[in-house]
Amino acid sequence: MLTRIWRWKYYLLALVLANSLLYFFFDRDLTGKQQVYLNQSVKALESQYKATVNAYDLLSRFEFSLLADDTTLLGILNEAAQKDAAGREPLRHRLLTHLKPIYQRLKQYHFSRFYFTFTDGSVFARLHKTYAFGDKPLDTKLNLSLQKIAPPHPPAGTFSEFTYSEPLYYKGVRVGYANLSVTFELFRSELTRLFPSYYQIVYSGSNVIETLSKEAQKRYIQSDLNGEYYTDADAGLSDTLQAFLRSVHHCIKDEASHQMKSGKPFGVACHLGNQWITVSFLPLSRYATNHSKAGYLIAYTPDPVLDSFTSSFYFRMLLGNLVLLFIFGVIYYLERHARQFKVLATYDTLTGIFNRREFDRIVEEEFERSSRYNRPMSVILMDIDHFKLVNDTYGHQEGDLVLKGLAKFIQGHIRRHDFFARWGGEEFAILATETTAAEAAQLAEKLRIQLQQQRFGSVGQITVSFGVAQIDESVETFGALFKQVDEALYQAKEAGRNRVQVYGVSL
Ligand code: GH3
Ligand code: MG
Ligand code: MG
Repeated sequence: MLTRIWRWKYYLLALVLANSLLYFFFDRDLTGKQQVYLNQSVKALESQYKATVNAYDLLSRFEFSLLADDTTLLGILNEAAQKDAAGREPLRHRLLTHLKPIYQRLKQYHFSRFYFTFTDGSVFARLHKTYAFGDKPLDTKLNLSLQKIAPPHPPAGTFSEFTYSEPLYYKGVRVGYANLSVTFELFRSELTRLFPSYYQIVYSGSNVIETLSKEAQKRYIQSDLNGEYYTDADAGLSDTLQAFLRSVHHCIKDEASHQMKSGKPFGVACHLGNQWITVSFLPLSRYATNHSKAGYLIAYTPDPVLDSFTSSFYFRMLLGNLVLLFIFGVIYYLERHARQFKVLATYDTLTGIFNRREFDRIVEEEFERSSRYNRPMSVILMDIDHFKLVNDTYGHQEGDLVLKGLAKFIQGHIRRHDFFARWGGEEFAILATETTAAEAAQLAEKLRIQLQQQRFGSVGQITVSFGVAQIDESVETFGALFKQVDEALYQAKEAGRNRVQVYGVSL
């Protein structure tokens, strides 16, 4: 039978195992839900990005349609295209004066850069930087855009920007391009105004940064998320924001860095402080390089929804554990009852030793074994002499104490592998394995003498008669063995009690 400690150890082990299973399933469910939610977040970011870009796209097209009909502008551009640098000077001033009111209006719509280029890519005039012109800003600027019309060259400037370009025609001949840019800073503030989050852009090193001049490359630093991506070196972030980004990046680095290699959209989540932050990564294309992956727009959003996922996870774990505890409680209750039932079915309630039922079972088992291997085995049956008198004289309760005392005494005076049981009433039996009748008789004699010297409470001295029988060829069933030992006990009583009688041995 399991000891108490071991039983508890098994219960604990089963509880831990069941708990691990619960954790495994609920955690898998949580991860699945988080994944679906993060994918949705990325989809939402994509829509937000497209909606914002589209708004600028529409606005630029409207503005371009006005410029395409502006005969003054087209005339100036056409004339300037045919002049040398000196000849272009007065024309540029005319253009700047002519377009100044338009530029003022465009600025209100975040188009902070407004400039014109010739078909060879050189800048004719910049409304936002009137003193800078004549350069071919081929390699000083990152240009991330969704626009439909190819600009001849990436526009000039010091910040990363989204640029829209439109060819301009004078009497059917292309004379140059109008260019409108939204700096990423302005784009980000517009995006933040519409969809509150913190946004950042990282640019792919191999695809974008390396195409810039060495000087221009200095404006970008490696991202702490993945060394193959770069961010604006001087993005003008506050210390708090920088610290926030550092900790989020530290938290998502392993997963994000790995996923960024794919150039696909993805979302990750990070538990910072006491809140969840979802970080969505949307790949950006670089225009004029066949829409190859040029970088990522990253959105950082504190997200209470993920909090609710985790609380529901903990709630389910708690509920699961309560159910487990209930199940274990029921199992424990049933098992305890089964154990108590087994105790009742096996042990005698008064003396605590085996009862007759259990003794019969053991003897039958041992009988089989000794018959098969031809090993000696004996049974000793004992009966208290004149016990009726004890009850009559001292009362039934005193009689019970004698029975208990006798059981305890004998239990302490037999070998560990002998079985001792209450046969019924004031009769007890010993099954002595590997023991001949002569050896069993010796044991019985020893017990008889020792019992005689024992005092049992107010009853004092008692005597006991013993019958002994050994299994041999004449004994074919264990029932026959009992019959023999019963007979021997009867003979002992007949012969005057307080003695040992072996079956088959004459008096
Ligand atoms: P003897 O065996 O020497 O022939 O005489 P006896 O008086 O012991 O006779 P018998 O075996 O017929 O009587 C058994 C008595 O044991 C009868 C009953 O009162 C008593 N007895 C049986 N079971 C219990 C018990 O559980 N408690 C008590 N106190 N007495 C019991
Ligand atoms: Mg009796
Ligand atoms: Mg008796």
